[in-house]
This record gives sequence, structure tokens and C-alpha cells, in this order.
Amino acid sequence: MSQLLTGVCPECETDLTTPPLVAGETLSCPECLLTLRVDDIRDGRLSLQMIEVQLRDWGQ
Ligand SMILES: [Zn+2]
Repeated sequence: MSQLLTGVCPECETDLTTPPLVAGETLSCPECLLTLRVDDIRDGRLSLQMIEVQLRDWGQ
């Protein structure tokens, strides 16, 4: 029996339900389509963080 995780999109505040994830994994918000990264998981609740758009020419 797998336990679903829940979280809230930091951008649009949509309630999300996801299959089990681990910290550091990413998912897309189905509502605003932003990419979110799992920051922390506590008691089945995801702490999500928006990922900044990464510039291809960052650094080298
Ligand atoms: Zn969203």
C-alpha cells in the first residue's frame, strides 16, 4: 500500500496529491505548470519550492 503525499503549490496554491517522492525530486504543477522541487517531506506533507528558470549560458 503506497501512501500519497499532499502539498500546496507555492505559486497558485493548488492542492496537489502526488505518488511518493523524495526530497530533491521535481514535479510540475498541473494548474500553473511551474516546475516545483520537493524541499522537505513531513508527515506526508510536501514542502515545495519553485525552481527558477535556469539560464543555459549561466557560467561557462
Ligand atoms: Zn501551481
